[in-house]
Amino acid sequence: MTYDLALENGTVCTENGLFPANVYVEGEEIRVISSIKEKLPAKESIDCSGLFLLPGFIDPHVHLGLALGRYTSADNFESGSALALSGGVTTLIDFLDPISDLAQFETAIKDRMTAAKDSRVDYSFHVTLAGNPSFSAEEIARSSIAAKMPSIKVFTTYSSSGRRSSDGMIYSLLSLSRKLGFVLMAHSENDEIIREREKEFSRPTYRDISSLRPTISELSEVAMLSLISLEEEGQLYIVHVSSGKTVEALSSLGLDWRRFTKLETCPQYLLLNNDPLKTDQGYLNTYCPPPRTDQERTLLQSALRKGEISSIGTDHCPFLNREKWENRDDYPKIPNGTGSLGISFATINTILDGDLKRVSSLLSTNPARIFGLFPKRGVLAPGSIANIAIVDRDVQSTVSRSRYTRSDHSLFEGIKLRGSVETVIHRGKLAFKNGDILLPKASGRFIERENIYWEKGACR
Ligand SMILES: [Zn+2]
Repeated sequence: MTYDLALENGTVCTENGLFPANVYVEGEEIRVISSIKEKLPAKESIDCSGLFLLPGFIDPHVHLGLALGRYTSADNFESGSALALSGGVTTLIDFLDPISDLAQFETAIKDRMTAAKDSRVDYSFHVTLAGNPSFSAEEIARSSIAAKMPSIKVFTTYSSSGRRSSDGMIYSLLSLSRKLGFVLMAHSENDEIIREREKEFSRPTYRDISSLRPTISELSEVAMLSLISLEEEGQLYIVHVSSGKTVEALSSLGLDWRRFTKLETCPQYLLLNNDPLKTDQGYLNTYCPPPRTDQERTLLQSALRKGEISSIGTDHCPFLNREKWENRDDYPKIPNGTGSLGISFATINTILDGDLKRVSSLLSTNPARIFGLFPKRGVLAPGSIANIAIVDRDVQSTVSRSRYTRSDHSLFEGIKLRGSVETVIHRGKLAFKNGDILLPKASGRFIERENIYWEKGACR
């Protein structure tokens, strides 16, 4: 037997630990993981000496080509998936446009499927709800499962733009989630607190964001939703937790909330604080929830080290400098969002001091389990898809704007991080090496996801 691809002399990271091994790929799948001494014939072979092989990363939270009022986020599926590959990400999960009626469901699917055709990597979508829907919780849950997208996103805020879901709808969805087999994702900020804060500002600018959307609005909403999930034994995923205070508050409840609630955070909340908002360049640091104080950022890093965060998404949604600048004195008009796709690995590897077993859980195994992609993805094992990130754990690097993004700036410019992605394999094909993208656009496919039952695959 001659294999298509051999990855030899590296250290393989599995759930059971790290060990030196060779990996042999046939077609799109891993066939054999052998000891270093046992070499098998292969058509092509890559020497991975000194490097580590991790399961390809999964970014479960991106917005590529997102139309937001007058603007569309800078990276589309073509550039976004190149950026993804340069950071070891081989699977992306984006979102359907918000719907309030089942009749809109087909159009929402068709629109995003068309946008995603250019993706270089495989992708899926989360269903997104708008406010005041005409369907019941059970109807939208069953439709999402039938469409092979068993994850539904709700907003607890943005009532002004009609996106806020009612607490009743959220309660019903959480009660059904484990029974029917789907995940409820929540953008969690208390809308009434924010509306109350807004009364103080006649014409808010970016300098007022921390005051307009305070941590208590996130903390109180996350606590409430987690308690509902605990009581109803739901499957709740909180997107973009922005403050370590939020995680600390949950932990102080002393309850077993982790079985029913998984927390996601993003590189921007782990690496940046709200100091830039006080400067003239601060209009660039506009994303939602907003950046927090340095103390909260440090607390979030320790929550990550303690294992209280389950997954890393980027919420990648950059807008151009000019698009933010021209609205700098009128905060509600600034397109919110920033770009961090591609830097998750170095960020988490730095914070976790090169603990690659935990890095691969956070960036791959956990999101695979949480969103119904496991065990085809999220693990290196015979029979799993050959999505592999080959990394240098220790090299020091300084972040600069990637040449693959269509955004014209990076908020992370100049930050020093540890570790880099050297080579990426996507479904058995060499996709990224020596800084070059080798996979053409439209190489990615839509991934059909089946019902999700968290009790079948524990993760933290
Ligand atoms: Zn988002």
